[in-house]
Amino acid sequence: MEKIIDESLQGSALALKKKNANGKKLYIESYGCQMNFSDSEIVASILANEGFDTTQNLNEADLVLVNTCSIREKAELTVRKRLEKFNAIKRDRPHMKVGVLGCMAERLKHQFLEEEKIVDMVVGPDAYKDLPNLIQEIDEGRNAVNVILSKDETYGDVSPVRLHSNGVTAFVSITRGCDNMCTFCVVPFTRGRERSRDPQSILDEVNDLSERGFKEITLLGQNVDSYLWYGGGLKKGFEKATEMQKATAVNFSQLLERTALAYPKMRIRFSTSNPQDMTLDVIHTMAKHKNICNAIHLPVQSGSNRILKEMNRLHTREEYFELIDNARRILPDCSISQDMIIGFPTETEQDHKDTMSLMEYVKYDFGYMFTYSERPGTMAERKMEDDVPEETKKRRLSEVIALQRQHCQERTQRHLGKVQEILIESTSKKSDEHFMGRNSQNTVAVFPRENYKVGDFVMVRMDECTSATLIGEAVGYSENN
Ligand code: SAM
Repeated sequence: MEKIIDESLQGSALALKKKNANGKKLYIESYGCQMNFSDSEIVASILANEGFDTTQNLNEADLVLVNTCSIREKAELTVRKRLEKFNAIKRDRPHMKVGVLGCMAERLKHQFLEEEKIVDMVVGPDAYKDLPNLIQEIDEGRNAVNVILSKDETYGDVSPVRLHSNGVTAFVSITRGCDNMCTFCVVPFTRGRERSRDPQSILDEVNDLSERGFKEITLLGQNVDSYLWYGGGLKKGFEKATEMQKATAVNFSQLLERTALAYPKMRIRFSTSNPQDMTLDVIHTMAKHKNICNAIHLPVQSGSNRILKEMNRLHTREEYFELIDNARRILPDCSISQDMIIGFPTETEQDHKDTMSLMEYVKYDFGYMFTYSERPGTMAERKMEDDVPEETKKRRLSEVIALQRQHCQERTQRHLGKVQEILIESTSKKSDEHFMGRNSQNTVAVFPRENYKVGDFVMVRMDECTSATLIGEAVGYSENN
């Protein structure tokens, strides 16, 4: 969520405005993708009604929750270290309770409670509405667990509180779960089957954000292109839907269009797209509406057809190129970003070269690259040996990162000399005298503050750049302001 994995936010504790009637303190820490951070906002909202104010001070917490990620082993190790720390604090504050939420909770279930005995409560990503009951259980001295995955839970009726908010940009969940069954990925096991959220509840949330002064939303899902609302239920249940449900169904392109038309001044982004599900009508919709940003996050994971097949990615490199060519024809100004997995089982030097040559073809604006991490229970773990030596993975990863850096620089430079609309998000990290914001393509720009303020849409002339940041000067407000 961007995307997604903002390293600076990993493990950060979230704090909300105090509700006067609330007496108990909740400390909630989040790891992993933007979906998890978004879920923590739902959890904080549910618990605010149960008498919990959020705190960023662990030592005053009555309840500690850690929203966890299972995508790579390292993410799980980080959480385990944190749980040890929480248990150390618990020795001095025995009334403090500790709960694990999210993907690790789903994956390890009872192991945390029964074998390791390091937590009081284990709650999977579809069970947050059960938190009030589960908390009552632990208050009465029992361990509590709910890891039931749901067919229809989308939390559409919970109005998430905005934690960590700059008051300008927000994430809006539109789907939960994933049906893709990529062989490397734990998500279908931890987040369950794919289901879409009622478009009306999405529009209501955007309306609320708009009324509160937010200027940009990112529609969020593991695979947004596969969004399909036909009255509720699993995506895979669509075949059995009635004729009426089929005729009135809403797909992603339609949802995007409805949102863009209803809120013409709201900037709209979306993440993540999957090449096998992304259709050209989405790109045409992007081209039609000025307020939909020109940025597509389109993970490919590998440039080798053989590896793509082993990963159960249902497209070839040639089909991916066709999609990229079409996107660039319809939206020449569009940025394209990637996720890449390096060192998937059986990856050869030739497969690696194919990844590098695919990157040369696309020249991505940004990328998120990681070495393969074997995840228990996935098809790759069950059927393939994790046989690429760690040094080889690391060497290939560094080559891929170096190439991406070079492309990022080239792609950033193409904005130089242009005057572009920037939405101001905050003061620049490096200088109080400067603001930071993003252009439509999601490239960060910094410029002197003058008399502008956070939340303004400003036209900025791009004068210089580093590899990933534009440096410019404001020349006036944009017409969107
Ligand atoms: N659904 C999107 C897709 O695959 O097109 C991305 C969502 S996934 C939660 C985020 C990223 O984590 C993936 O794109 C992939 O690059 C990375 N990832 C998933 N499983 C991994 C694994 N076992 N090892 C390393 N990286 C992994």
